[in-house]
Amino acid sequence: MEFEAFAKRVDGIEAEAGDIETIQEVAALFGAADAELPVVVRFVQGRVFPAWSSTTLDIGPSLCYTAIARAAGPNVSADDVEARLADQGEIGAVAEGYEFGDQQGLAAFGSGAAEGLTVDEVDSELRALADADGSGSQDRKVDLLFGLFRQCSPLEARYLARLVLGEMRIGVGEGTVRDAICEAFDQPTETVSRALQVTNDYGEVAAVAREEGAAGLDSLELEVGRPVQSMLAQAGTAAEALDSWGEAAAEIKFDGARVQIHVQEGEESGLGEISIYSRNMDDVTAALPDVVEFVRQSVTDSCILDGEVVAVDDAGDPLAFQHVLRRFRRKHDIERMVEEVTLRLHAFDCLRAGSEGLLTKPLVDRHDRLETVFKNGEADEAVAELLLSDDPDELAAFEADALEAGHEGIMLKNPQSAYSPGDRGQNWLKRKPDVETVDLVVTGAEWGEGRRASFLGTFLLSVRDPETASYRTIGKVATGITDEQLAELTELLEPHITAESGQTVEIQPSVVFEVGYEEIQPSPTYASGYALRFPRFVAVREDKSPADAETVGRIERLAESQ
Ligand code: ATP
Repeated sequence: MEFEAFAKRVDGIEAEAGDIETIQEVAALFGAADAELPVVVRFVQGRVFPAWSSTTLDIGPSLCYTAIARAAGPNVSADDVEARLADQGEIGAVAEGYEFGDQQGLAAFGSGAAEGLTVDEVDSELRALADADGSGSQDRKVDLLFGLFRQCSPLEARYLARLVLGEMRIGVGEGTVRDAICEAFDQPTETVSRALQVTNDYGEVAAVAREEGAAGLDSLELEVGRPVQSMLAQAGTAAEALDSWGEAAAEIKFDGARVQIHVQEGEESGLGEISIYSRNMDDVTAALPDVVEFVRQSVTDSCILDGEVVAVDDAGDPLAFQHVLRRFRRKHDIERMVEEVTLRLHAFDCLRAGSEGLLTKPLVDRHDRLETVFKNGEADEAVAELLLSDDPDELAAFEADALEAGHEGIMLKNPQSAYSPGDRGQNWLKRKPDVETVDLVVTGAEWGEGRRASFLGTFLLSVRDPETASYRTIGKVATGITDEQLAELTELLEPHITAESGQTVEIQPSVVFEVGYEEIQPSPTYASGYALRFPRFVAVREDKSPADAETVGRIERLAESQ
């Protein structure tokens, strides 16, 4: 498929306001694709790589502006691109406004269309861009991107710019893509949803739906080495749990960082490669050599485990969540950090053991299997204790003990429930006595004044609208932040600034803040329709990406349940 043809269809999709029509147009786009179908499906979502992959383009907005400026000719500078961006508010519109090198040449010769870019060519160039690393890699990335932009028509440039920055803004969320796959290849929603859950790859699922139908989709399974989304919890109480299920499986809610551990099968029945993923499915293996070693020593079979790693003090007692984060994304001085912060693994679920996928098995069976994956004796240390009980007093005592021992609270799980990746449903309930917090995406900020003029001071926060894959504002936070934190936050956010006007900056969604609040109120001021009363900064959730931030729907539910 020509990239121009892709861009034209996407332009039509962007202009479409109706949900059903949007699904039909996306389905028609998928139907028109040939071997490049998986790429088309990813591009529509603003992705080059499937969700399970940790690979990123690793190119910030300013390098993208430089590439656009170069392609636009000698009279255009990156500053000019930024000035237009401040004016027009969106990089796609800015890119579309230039005439790029080859187009200018063609116009001069008065010739017809050039040999157009194809979707596959764009994909392979962007993959080469992602591969560039080491010294000089940033220049190489700009060169590659410049090479693409100079071949682009204005419409192609609009979507290339947005694709590179990971935001298509065409009103197509994950649900729309799923429905379009169902529609294009005539498959039931449940079959496609299950396939998406286990593979985490919309492109692959679309291709299998087209080529092998329902039987092919049903045969897709979890694969060791491909992380899946974590199952999540809602707030709830023991009374609700017993009411719904009769009996509850209670576990400690460890205050650490979520890990999904993938252990490959090795040669001669030994273990192969071990990889650890964060709850965003980022590969954090390199930062956690001690956890890898522990797993290598204590696990007997290939498997996929779900659990939490917690920082502990010399006596083995849990330390606050912030300590784990010091270890998590570490790229340098890893050995020193291993010495400084001791981690302990608490595995609480098993998604696959040996060649057997366990997602649809009941929780209690998965827990039994989890224990057998560890060597004799090791399970006691590594596997989270599970208390099965139908007695409210026993559950209350379990919770009191957990809090007494310094844990965050308890989890209550439906003993008969399947593992449902990415689901924040009714089968896992979390119970913790602390204040309410929400996880929000930083989408803007304001420079401070006086002593704080060189720091970003007030942060604009947004929630996610999954259906349109966009962000909607919900408030600002300026309280709860020390001067030292302001400096750190400025350093963290500055590279993501996309536009600036006076004191105010726009920020590409990339950083998630945990924010405490007293109440959620309806409000006409913000695009979400809600505002936080007394918002207070709690922490940067480095373990979360914008995709994990609260959605508009969840804010609505929280507001209702107050
Ligand atoms: P929170 O901010 O409360 O940790 P969250 O948004 O990170 O919530 P939730 O799904 O709301 O995630 O809460 C579940 C989280 O609690 C899991 O993601 C996991 O990291 C952690 N956790 C700790 N102990 C357990 C356990 N025994 N079972 C499941 N999750 C656990």
